[in-house]
Amino acid sequence: MNPGAWLTVAPLNAVTAARQNRTAVLETVQRAGSVARPNLVEVTGLTPGTISNVVRDLIELRLVRATGEVAPRRKAMAGAPSPMLALDGSWHRVLSVHQGVSRILIGGHDLEGRVLASKELPAVRGETPDDVITRVAGALRKLIADEGWSGRQVRGIGVGAVGLVDPETGGIRAAPNIGWVEVPLRERLEASLDWPVAVRNNVHAMAIGECRFAGVPERQAVYVYVGTGIGSGIIADSQVQRGAHGAAGELGHLLVPGGARCSCGKTGCLETVAAEPAIARRAEIQGPPKAAVAQVVQRAAEGDETARTLLREVGESLGLAMSQVTEILDPGAIVVNGIVAEAGEGFLRPLAESLRRNTFAARGRQVDVRAASFGRQAGMIGAAALALETFVYNPRSELFAERAGRSAWES
Ligand SMILES: [Zn+2]
Repeated sequence: MNPGAWLTVAPLNAVTAARQNRTAVLETVQRAGSVARPNLVEVTGLTPGTISNVVRDLIELRLVRATGEVAPRRKAMAGAPSPMLALDGSWHRVLSVHQGVSRILIGGHDLEGRVLASKELPAVRGETPDDVITRVAGALRKLIADEGWSGRQVRGIGVGAVGLVDPETGGIRAAPNIGWVEVPLRERLEASLDWPVAVRNNVHAMAIGECRFAGVPERQAVYVYVGTGIGSGIIADSQVQRGAHGAAGELGHLLVPGGARCSCGKTGCLETVAAEPAIARRAEIQGPPKAAVAQVVQRAAEGDETARTLLREVGESLGLAMSQVTEILDPGAIVVNGIVAEAGEGFLRPLAESLRRNTFAARGRQVDVRAASFGRQAGMIGAAALALETFVYNPRSELFAERAGRSAWES
């Protein structure tokens, strides 16, 4: 968020202003890591008196703590040394659910999105959506119990889901890769558990996590994930675009030369040459596609020419698709995740070169192609970031409700 954006929202009543101020200060502490009150005054434009009140509230809410260190003194500063402030990681928790095609990862996180606990749930053949939701709800309850956390510490659950997610209802409209159609995911999970739930497409969630916890300085960027399918999150000013129907960035179904018949019904989709099942098939490795791709990456690292050629070709196909995206969006960066990205330059360089060759006046040259920050934890960290942005770093957070009663979260 643009740190000053809330200032332009007018008119504000006093309660709304207080919520906006708390959110602005909390976000500043999160982004800075550690910060003193005078810096908060500078960054937020609030008065020293307001900052003092807001910081006191945030400490009382166990969102912020004094680190015990003091800010280095500057000439202009008068009075007592200013204590440094940081996020309080000791109390509030959010839960994450990263739904993949072949497995589900669940996690427990602090205010900085760190993975404090996690568990992998393999997909079970023949399970209905209701079976899956029941199993996930049970696993989340067990994770909390195993960690010794109280339900009162949990602010909410973020879900990164497979397929097209309705942003209004948090339901899955269609997920062809797992055969789900019209599943009211948020409603069902909330009915099974005591916490509020936020749902986005799983790659959108990864992009949200990258923006919040790694930082994406470019005004415009695209976060691409190569898995069983290929999805993306389109980032503009650190916000991940939903699209009109929650389906922005479905890159896997762009058409490329050499593409085959796709699960979506079209012929020639990028996924049919560059997603994990296609890579596994082209490498002629049996078994789960993820393991096969990991094997290709390993072989390439050991100098196997066939594996290197395959990764180069896959990178070039993705680069060609990204060149079309680049012509439309003019991104400053393309951030790539998935097991193929673990090949590093052997995959990213052919992608970047193909991007340059296939963009108008080689403007793809200006695009920074890089690996994502959180690797195999990106799904969980992204879902946690979604939960934190919805239930904590948000003026509408129940934590900031003036008279809602504090018994809901106090120990
Ligand atoms: Zn397709």
